[in-house]
Amino acid sequence: MHSCPVDGSSDFNLVYRNKQKTKEFSVASCKKCGLEMVNPQPSASVLSRYYDVNYYGNGSMKFPPIIQWLRKISIIKKVRKILSLYEHEKGRIMDIGCADGAFLFNIKKREWNTTGLEISASAVREESFKDLDIIIGDITEHHFAEHSHNVITLWHVFEHLADPDIYLNEIRRIMTPEGLLVITLPNVASWQARWFGKDWFHRDIPRHLYHYSPETLQKLLIKYGFRIQKIEHFSLEYNPFGYIQSFYNKFLGDNNHFYNHLKNIRNEEDSSGGDRGGSIRFFGLLALLPFLVLPAIFLSVAEAMSKKGGTIKVYIRHE
Ligand SMILES: [Zn+2]
Repeated sequence: MHSCPVDGSSDFNLVYRNKQKTKEFSVASCKKCGLEMVNPQPSASVLSRYYDVNYYGNGSMKFPPIIQWLRKISIIKKVRKILSLYEHEKGRIMDIGCADGAFLFNIKKREWNTTGLEISASAVREESFKDLDIIIGDITEHHFAEHSHNVITLWHVFEHLADPDIYLNEIRRIMTPEGLLVITLPNVASWQARWFGKDWFHRDIPRHLYHYSPETLQKLLIKYGFRIQKIEHFSLEYNPFGYIQSFYNKFLGDNNHFYNHLKNIRNEEDSSGGDRGGSIRFFGLLALLPFLVLPAIFLSVAEAMSKKGGTIKVYIRHE
């Protein structure tokens, strides 16, 4: 068993088991602090099977136009928000897990200096944004200068990190004392996580190695001298879709096929059933979509108002 990164405890309760491709994974919660994680943790070689070229998308488009458009709006909003927090200053920003660099590209246009860090060379595609310095590798492989970055962002990356301690320790060192750390991640204490349990779309096992709540994240951050300044609980890009795909998973046994199809993925399970069967099912689920969109948006607003958002955006400062 892997020990808990919050308190080092090895005392866990099994929450459930989940089979992905041909392998079964266990999710367990720490008896001491409640942090949920895939435990035992898969080895790097097992994990690499779940980060194939399909995961990062094929060609220049990871998603269909409507979702690309939502992503674009979301990037513009992220840039505006960060600029509003640094009104009178241009600074240096690091995006950890920057993929093709779309976010950095937009903030660079506003004369910020950028550092892009990406663990996977296949995420940085040929069509990636030009003139961006994207460094391939782990944060520990590059000795970034102390207090060299004003803002550090991890957009849906933190839950993938096998060793969050190493990252937080390094982030604390390279971020300026008045700097801002922004992390977006799924919230295991959300309504959608609680209602859908192991069928919750944002569980994404085994890629999401840890399943944080605001409480467990705070406990981990405190260890590194960070404090949570603010949490936003609404995301149009992520939360309504969390309800829709989880609904398909729970009641129609979909196992994220609808999402994979949107990403134009033919995964192993799909090919065993034949592409044709997969397509028929996809169009069936697509026909259901108009009936689910409004309830999903409504629930996402309601859970956000109750501070139980499916995914959250966390603003963090040095203590
Ligand atoms: Zn713990």
